[in-house]
Amino acid sequence: MKSDQMSSAGPWLPLFMQLQDQAVLVIGGGIEAQRKINRLRKHGAVIDVVAAALNAEMQSLHAQQALRWLGAELPVTASGYRLMIVAEHNAELKAQALAYARHNGVLVNAVDDPANCSAILPAIVDRYPITIAIGSGGAAPELARKLRSQLEALLPQWIGPLAQLSADLKQRIRARLPQSAQRRQLLHWLFTGPPARHMSQGRAELARRALEQALADPALPQSGSVALVGAGPGDPELLTVKALRLIQEADVIVHDALVDERILDYARRDAELHDVSKRGGRCAFPQTDIHALLLQAAQAGQRVVRLKGGDPMVFGRGGEELQFLRRHGIDLEVVPGITAAAGCAAYAGIPLTHREHAQSVRLITAHGRHSVDRLDWRALAQERQTLAFYMAVACIDQVQKQLLAHGLSPATPVAMVENGTRPQQRVMVGTLGQLADLAHAHALQSPAMVYVGEVAALAAQLGWYGDAPLTDSKLSEQMAAA
Ligand code: SAH
Repeated sequence: MKSDQMSSAGPWLPLFMQLQDQAVLVIGGGIEAQRKINRLRKHGAVIDVVAAALNAEMQSLHAQQALRWLGAELPVTASGYRLMIVAEHNAELKAQALAYARHNGVLVNAVDDPANCSAILPAIVDRYPITIAIGSGGAAPELARKLRSQLEALLPQWIGPLAQLSADLKQRIRARLPQSAQRRQLLHWLFTGPPARHMSQGRAELARRALEQALADPALPQSGSVALVGAGPGDPELLTVKALRLIQEADVIVHDALVDERILDYARRDAELHDVSKRGGRCAFPQTDIHALLLQAAQAGQRVVRLKGGDPMVFGRGGEELQFLRRHGIDLEVVPGITAAAGCAAYAGIPLTHREHAQSVRLITAHGRHSVDRLDWRALAQERQTLAFYMAVACIDQVQKQLLAHGLSPATPVAMVENGTRPQQRVMVGTLGQLADLAHAHALQSPAMVYVGEVAALAAQLGWYGDAPLTDSKLSEQMAAA
């Protein structure tokens, strides 16, 4: 080893260290030393400080006997120190301290000086007892911290308590399942099945009870489950954190055509993907086959995500799928998504309600003549509400005709949002009198939302995403004349 530096650095070995009641020597009395001390104290370390002076915060720690201040002299004997932190600006004292650490074989962490470190404190994600350490070997601590925040967002808080639960019942699990393959099956169920879900809902007691019941049952629990997950209207960033996690964990994903490709890219490489899209009324996959597929996969112990565009419980037959799975005793959960009415309105600058224009919103399906004929048009043709039509492209003439026939003014503003929240989003604005012409003139395509009501006019002012709204040329002339 060179005398003036650590031996040239190779790759770092990550190692977790037990510091409870262990002595750590800190050189320095400023803010950097104080930050390290705060961190070490959380791990139960006993702190000795060498410094010419202490800042106010450290003086108060000293007064509380949370640290021992040895003055500016290094202690005669270094034995007993597990670790040394060098956070000292005085070059002479720092050099002395580094030499002292090397001489005594104590691990040393020198703040902002990776070349003089034999130990590094990584950025950590704390889900006690699970701890994730991220190190960059001192090369890019900023990047390590950035990765840490990304992992923080991804890893739910409850994985800690869940790990603790398995630790608490470890003896009983071992006694009940002496074979490791069986234990693995149970732990897989514990970490992905009902106990994990109870924990995620903040119900630790239920999680413990589920595990205890499973241990009392002679048969091993099956870990299959189905999560009905909303994928939102398109933009992958509109996924909920929970939806993202479930998609990333899924063994099987059963999805519609409306689910954006970029969202499917989050699936595991080895996940099984099934596209069961039903487009334009032609069922590529009958609903009963979808039911059978979900049931089969869940009964085979797989974690199934049934992924639907928007929200799964809004015009998505989510209710039917839930009823079917419930009848078969499948473990279920539902993750809401941003429904197209909300997502497309937001990205087109349309407030769905507005104190001056609309006090209610109606979500309406205009899918096929049958459902259009059954709508209560009189109730829909009222002022001061916003109508949000789903699946209305094919029946747009019908929608216009019925609303006018039931007395809604032809001057009522309308807006159409095609491929809302996606890069190819198009917005068209005009009046109810122009609705069908406008849609035909611009060859409106599915998927599109059709909004009727005063608020629709605001898209022209408040639109912020993608291109400016398209209008009818006659309308443009009227606007220009006004
Ligand atoms: N469960 C979905 C709706 C399914 S019905 C939800 O909550 O949004 C399918 C209809 O949703 C489409 O015909 C269209 O009217 C609407 N839709 C879904 N995604 C859309 C998008 N990105 N842009 C415009 N309309 C969309």
